[in-house]
Amino acid sequence: MPPWLSPAGVAAAAALGAAVAAGAGWRGLALLAVFFVTASALTRGGGRRTPAQVLANGGVAAAAALLARLDARFLLAFAGALAAAAADTWSTEVGARSSAQPRLVTTGRPVPPGTSGGVTWLGTLGGVGGAALLALCASFIGLATLPEAAWIAAGGVAGGVADSLLGATLQGRFRCARCGVVGEAARCACGGPAAPASGLSWLTNGAVNGACTLVGAVVGAAPVILRAAGLA
Ligand SMILES: [Zn+2]
Repeated sequence: MPPWLSPAGVAAAAALGAAVAAGAGWRGLALLAVFFVTASALTRGGGRRTPAQVLANGGVAAAAALLARLDARFLLAFAGALAAAAADTWSTEVGARSSAQPRLVTTGRPVPPGTSGGVTWLGTLGGVGGAALLALCASFIGLATLPEAAWIAAGGVAGGVADSLLGATLQGRFRCARCGVVGEAARCACGGPAAPASGLSWLTNGAVNGACTLVGAVVGAAPVILRAAGLA
C-alpha cells in the first residue's frame, strides 16, 4: 500500500483504477500507474490522501476514460486530465523542497508554504516536468501521437496554472471559531469549527483540483475539439 494513501483512499484509488481499466484498457492503466508511482515517490511526510482527494484528482480522468468506451477520442481528454493532476501534485511536492518563500501567483505577495495559490520557481518547474512526463508516456505507449502529446503537456500546465489562479482568488477560506486561524477547510487543524471568511465556501481545495483536471482534459482534447469545429 502506498504510504501516502489512507485505507479508504486505497479503496477510492482501486475504484478509479477499475474505471480506467474498463474505459481505457492497459494503456490507461499504465498512464495512471505513472501518475500514482511518481506522486507517491515525490510525496513525503504525513500527507495522506483521503478518498475525496483521490477522486478530486482522478474523477475527471475516470469519467473521460469511461467515455472513451463510446468514443476513443476521449482518451486525449483522459491523458490531459492526468497530466494536470501530475502537474498539480509535482508542483506541490517539488515546490515544498524549495528554500524560496512561495509568492501568491496573482499579486506576488509572500505567503506561508502550502498556501493555495502560492508558487515558487522550483514548484512551477516541477509541475511542467510532471505534465511533460505524462505526455511523453502517453505518446510512448501509443495513447497519443507526438503532436497530440504536446497538447496533453499544455493541458497539464494549463491545469496547474488554473489551480494556482483559483487557489489565489476564488477558493474558499475559513476562519476557525476556536483559534482564529484562517485555513482552507471547514474544520480547523485544532479540531474547532471554522466559518467562511473569504472566497466561495463551496470551492474547496478538492473542487479546485477537480477544475484543474477539467481544464487539462479540455486542453488535452484540443486537437479533437479544433477538428470538430473545422479549425484544424
Ligand atoms: Zn483552530
